[in-house]
Amino acid sequence: PPYGESEPWYPAPTGGTVQRWEKSYERAAELVRQMTLPEKVNVTTGTGWSMGMCVGNTGPVERLGFPSLCLQDGPLGLRFVGNATAFPAAITVGATWNKRLMFDRGRAHGLEARLKGINVLLGPSMGPLGRLPAGGRNWEGFGADPVLQGIAAAQTIKGIQSEGVIATAKHYVANEQEHFRQAWAWGTSNAISSNIDDRTMHEIYAWPFAESVRAGVGSVMCSYNQVNNSYACQNSKLLNGVLKDELGFQGFIQSDWLAQRSGVASALAGLDMTMPGDGLGWQDGKSLWGPELTKAVLNGSVPMDRLNDMVLRIVASWYQLGQDDTSRWPDPAHGGGPNFSSWTDDRVGSLHPGSPGSTEMGVVNQYVPVRDTEEGGNHDALVRGMASEAIVMVKNELGILPIPRSIKGVMTKGGDGKLRVGIFGEDAYPNPKGNNACPDRGCNEGTLAMGWGSGAVELPYLVSPAEALHREFDTETVEVTDWKTNTLNGVDGTAAAQDLCIVFINSDAGEGYLSWNGIKGDRNDLFPQKGGDDLVRSVAANCGGRKENGEPASDTIVILHTVGPTILEKWIDMPGVKGVLIAHLPGQESGNALADVLFGSYNPSGHLPYTIAKREEDYGPTSGIMRYPNSLVPQQDFTEGLYIDYRYFDKYNITPRYPFGFGLSYTTFSLGDLDIHMGNLQGAQAIPVPARDRLTPPKLDPRVPDPNTALWPPGLRPLNRYVYPWLESGGVGREGRYPYPAGYEHWHAPSPAGGGEGGNPALYELAATVTTTIANTGPVHGDAVLQLYVSLPSDTTDSFGKPLDHPVRQLRNFEKVSLGPGERREVEMMVGRKEVSYWDVGVQDWVVPRGVVGVCVGFRGSRDQGFEGGQGGC
Ligand code: BGC
Repeated sequence: PPYGESEPWYPAPTGGTVQRWEKSYERAAELVRQMTLPEKVNVTTGTGWSMGMCVGNTGPVERLGFPSLCLQDGPLGLRFVGNATAFPAAITVGATWNKRLMFDRGRAHGLEARLKGINVLLGPSMGPLGRLPAGGRNWEGFGADPVLQGIAAAQTIKGIQSEGVIATAKHYVANEQEHFRQAWAWGTSNAISSNIDDRTMHEIYAWPFAESVRAGVGSVMCSYNQVNNSYACQNSKLLNGVLKDELGFQGFIQSDWLAQRSGVASALAGLDMTMPGDGLGWQDGKSLWGPELTKAVLNGSVPMDRLNDMVLRIVASWYQLGQDDTSRWPDPAHGGGPNFSSWTDDRVGSLHPGSPGSTEMGVVNQYVPVRDTEEGGNHDALVRGMASEAIVMVKNELGILPIPRSIKGVMTKGGDGKLRVGIFGEDAYPNPKGNNACPDRGCNEGTLAMGWGSGAVELPYLVSPAEALHREFDTETVEVTDWKTNTLNGVDGTAAAQDLCIVFINSDAGEGYLSWNGIKGDRNDLFPQKGGDDLVRSVAANCGGRKENGEPASDTIVILHTVGPTILEKWIDMPGVKGVLIAHLPGQESGNALADVLFGSYNPSGHLPYTIAKREEDYGPTSGIMRYPNSLVPQQDFTEGLYIDYRYFDKYNITPRYPFGFGLSYTTFSLGDLDIHMGNLQGAQAIPVPARDRLTPPKLDPRVPDPNTALWPPGLRPLNRYVYPWLESGGVGREGRYPYPAGYEHWHAPSPAGGGEGGNPALYELAATVTTTIANTGPVHGDAVLQLYVSLPSDTTDSFGKPLDHPVRQLRNFEKVSLGPGERREVEMMVGRKEVSYWDVGVQDWVVPRGVVGVCVGFRGSRDQGFEGGQGGC
């Protein structure tokens, strides 16, 4: 199709085609065969916003013991749940580059969800991927690279699902900014269209979703925006074609909340569940499915096969995750189902708060403890370690860090032998109005522990940096002064009286339904907020007073809490700024985690999950947020293609302030030579496509049932605006079938790149094993992150005969290694066939280009080889 248009892809592939899901599909088929038409519809449709206890609730099939499913946000913890863990946000987790930690966090998150009766967790997020550094929700994902996102998402999914909770890979796809993500909230006629070419879609934006499918994810959430001018939740190419056919997705696709924009078209395009079930507006009681789907099946607009497949996919996912096990998932009659309410903290509350006039009350909050359990251990301790491991040290001159807790016998400012330490900036202190004062954390007050929106949670507590520092410093020998605001008035003098200054600044963003201080989700710029730059400049210029040469007499350490890339240029080169730590969004253990790194109980091992530029423009001409619609339907062309973040800097030879993957340690490492063993690639241009090993999905009755089975049950008193699946007797006619969408009659051939979960299994076969050694050559224990980058040969052509251009280098794998002083370890990293391939648009498959593939490994980021000070090897 022409650029900016989406090709039709029909019919929707049915689930149940891979071995790993076979049993679940068989069992699902047994159950679904017994369901009536309205019962099937009930499984696919939410009951309406706040009609149940969770942010999403499906209709149950009580007769057969299939429950209402509880769907709950989100990627960093349990939203609207008291006393659940506020984990470090995903961007923070991305900065750990620790696969095991990613899994452990997922598992802890999943356990908490299960103990609260949540069937489906609405995370992890991997879209936005981070194309736009100011994108409001980038922090809900793991960083601006498809492989980092993909590995982190897969690990998170495996962790969550190991507890039997269905994970959701979201938002599919290219929801890269908040502005105009929906039409209704932003005053445009339609949502923004992310226009992406096929190759870029495969190599960048769909990549982490492929990894999620490969990890066995049970659910995918389609996004609000359009992609190539077709709404993501009714884009047949993306749902039927890429996700279900090519990537072999076996679970169900749910809509983002009100992202469904059509009834029949979305069903045919592959949507399986509508959330929260309302129609085009909140609590309008006019679902696009519910009774309308019942009708659409009866009049032939939606084939019975399609409805059967929707329900099978949902029920199979439920079996696949073991949610039929009543010892872990008791049925609602025996205490199962959600044991919390999203809508009140009171014990007793409304059962259907969204239904006007509904008076039904019950015990809605049972306050089940989840943070410290026999099964899961202590999550507070767990997340402290995670948040420390995520802290990225980008500057440490003269070994200013780590700092001592106590000092003795040195000349200090006060002349009394006591060390004067000043803590500066609002970001070190709690929000005076309370940690959860702003709904969904939609403001930047006090220390920043998470961004805002549906991806935020209630903090059970928050250890502020100031609290932890006061506790840690030895008060016998250290005197701590607090400067609790970002006010500049008088700060010079206070800074001048210190022997050491620690300045806290931050930068916040979030989901676009909330705005704070003129920030409508997406950041307005990439600078620290609330005058952070000025505060650092004043403190760093004056700390300890000035020496004769005008330089500050004492040192300044800057701590940054941030949702993403932040420009540091206004002070980074000031002589007083000796240390800089980027702590991202640490969650509840903020201060403790920071103290662990500051005082050296933990040696920093975080690495940037994105590039820090010197100037905002350095990210490229297409990297800005579209703030004014450029047409009736805003068109956002992803014309930079593959070249986002470091791929852009590399292509145009722009020197970043700190490259992607950068991070320092208190120790030093040295890397041995690389030993590369080729897998079985059989020379160049290899695309062996093994026979598609596809199972035949279970067969259900494709016939349209008797309309009388779809009528309102007699005697049922409906709740106002609640979504039910039944029809009035007058509304049942078989007439009025919708025409099938354009292209529906030409059924699409299956993709040669498909066949298994995540695509053709051959794509994941070994291309090469890279072995090297890493040694800790310094005095303290430390963790190194080995990052493997691949360079594809650029002197070849694609199947159209067009010259191929590849990014200079692309991250393909990483491994975190823990080493005692003097310790040396051998590390082996695998590279799969897909990771040395490009997506060839002509053949619609992954192709290994002819020529020499370069492999480089470094431990200080994407520019650790061939650049000044580089310590990596190729
Ligand atoms: C967000 C989703 C979230 C949903 C339910 C939407 O506004 O985009 O990420 O899962 O709300 O809260």
